[in-house]
Amino acid sequence: MQERTSQRGQSRELGFVDLAAAGILFVLVGQFGLPGEETSMSKDAQERMVLTEEAKKKFDECVAALAACGFGPDGPSVETTFAEIEGFGHELGKMLARALDEKLTSQHAAHFEGTAACPCCGTTCPVAENAATRDVQTTDGMIPLREPIGHCPVCNRDFFPSAYRVED
Ligand SMILES: [Zn+2]
Repeated sequence: MQERTSQRGQSRELGFVDLAAAGILFVLVGQFGLPGEETSMSKDAQERMVLTEEAKKKFDECVAALAACGFGPDGPSVETTFAEIEGFGHELGKMLARALDEKLTSQHAAHFEGTAACPCCGTTCPVAENAATRDVQTTDGMIPLREPIGHCPVCNRDFFPSAYRVED
């Protein structure tokens, strides 16, 4: 009986991990696109997006707060056009996309801290957190990208294991 309960707990956890992975994939595919894929998201892709109950609640609260920032607590005035509403929503959507890109790339970059092989000579080199950021253009605007930096004492060069860029 106990075993069954824990199994169910496990499968729920696995399900959550799958959803989280799918969500990240969704965000990345949504931002960077797949080759040959249209830039606008298909209805299927929209339906794959699953939020937890907690996230849904926070999302709704966030929408309410942002709507009030744009049009006040009582909403848009009678003379507001649909284009104004749509334009505001679109800008805020891009802001959210940039924030997600920044958070997820920063979390992703952490995997590369520690040591990495130099892309030029293969020497195992220390990789440290990088205080500097690089501005990267996304479909939703510029985001600061934080990349861990490696230094090869043999080549006397810095490199970026998460992107394999080399700097002299
Ligand atoms: Zn090297």
